[in-house]
Amino acid sequence: MTKINENYLNLPGSYLFAEISRRVAAYKTAHPEADIIRLGIGDVTKALPPTIIDGLHKAVDEMGSDETFRGYGPEQGYTFLIEKIIQFDYAPLGIQLDTDEVFVSDGSKSDTGNIQEIFSLDTKVAMTDPVYPVYIDTNVMAGRSGLLGKDGRYANIVYIPCHAGNSFVPELPKEKVDLIYLCFPNNPTGTTLKKSELKKWVDYARENKAVILYDAAYEAYIQEDDIPHSIYEVEGAKEVAIEFRTFSKNAGFTGTRCAFTVVPKTVMGYTASGEAYPFNKLWNRRQTTKFNGAPYIVQKGAEAVYTPEGQKQIHEIIAYYMKNAKAIREGVQSIGLEVFGGVNAPYIWLKTPQNMDSWTFFDKLLNEAHIVGTPGVGFGPSGQGYFRLTAFGKAENTLEAVERLKTRLKL
Ligand code: PLP
Repeated sequence: MTKINENYLNLPGSYLFAEISRRVAAYKTAHPEADIIRLGIGDVTKALPPTIIDGLHKAVDEMGSDETFRGYGPEQGYTFLIEKIIQFDYAPLGIQLDTDEVFVSDGSKSDTGNIQEIFSLDTKVAMTDPVYPVYIDTNVMAGRSGLLGKDGRYANIVYIPCHAGNSFVPELPKEKVDLIYLCFPNNPTGTTLKKSELKKWVDYARENKAVILYDAAYEAYIQEDDIPHSIYEVEGAKEVAIEFRTFSKNAGFTGTRCAFTVVPKTVMGYTASGEAYPFNKLWNRRQTTKFNGAPYIVQKGAEAVYTPEGQKQIHEIIAYYMKNAKAIREGVQSIGLEVFGGVNAPYIWLKTPQNMDSWTFFDKLLNEAHIVGTPGVGFGPSGQGYFRLTAFGKAENTLEAVERLKTRLKL
């Protein structure tokens, strides 16, 4: 008899986006004429810019000739891309990295999901709430979470609530934790931390020999000056933080797939006998064993992001989405709802009217305005009573949605 990994049975039953699809499909069946606008899922809608397409095309051609064909590449990624990442993403911030501290991959979903494997099973894990669900679910699968309580919280996970009451600035946990997931600019709330606020976490990690997993997937959307683009801008962070970045949101790679993870050699864990051991070595071992590298063609596409034309083109697309974000933010404000995010991130997080629960507001928005968003509670218990709208839609749809919010929503 083959036994299953029962940890999987501990996962929540219906995934958030499946339930959204079910409700939208039911509504469409009942109202086939409804012209529904989707401001729900965090996927981008703009095509890859021409310079990236050129980079991809050239690499495709190279694959078609024996002289330039590439087979298996380095599991950690090609040096041509790693050097660009260090030169363009980190050096301008005054951050020095060695090439063997950057690991290129096929996505931050895989990296943020897989990274927990290099930490002991009895690691005490903390995460902000609401949260990108991958961090929790992968710890549930590994057996680190304990059981899901009626309050929507796993017994062994430390939840750090982020809400309007604390201006979405997470407070340090009262109990001692070993591993902390932070994501800024945040998905789903679209809020950010100032350097001084992030420093408290770095200091905590240094004092407690903890590690911070810092997901900077939305770094390119930061508009304001005093918001750090990398956790390594904070003094001492290279001793305690692993950082994740993806080309998905800054360069439209959601379907092309390329990301990277920075694991400084100075981030240490401890053996059972108390000896320090670098996580960089473990991640390298993990990747070389289980991963055969991101495709050469895709890494060539990612390299093109760092050309002057590539930079210009991606920044135009980011500006396009941020214009949507501004329109949504101002539209929601104009109908008297409280709104967060949308200034340094492509997500707008609104407080539902009259303390309505998130799913009731979902149905109301769908029924009255034919707009699909994402119920905040789907990202964790502290998301109850909140709702996420995304700026990744087409501009005309976004503006139409804002108009509908103003004219059709009965408040
Ligand atoms: N991290 C966060 C916070 C995200 O919101 C997402 C995607 O929505 C990802 C990671 C996944 O990125 P990737 O497309 O590189 O897997």
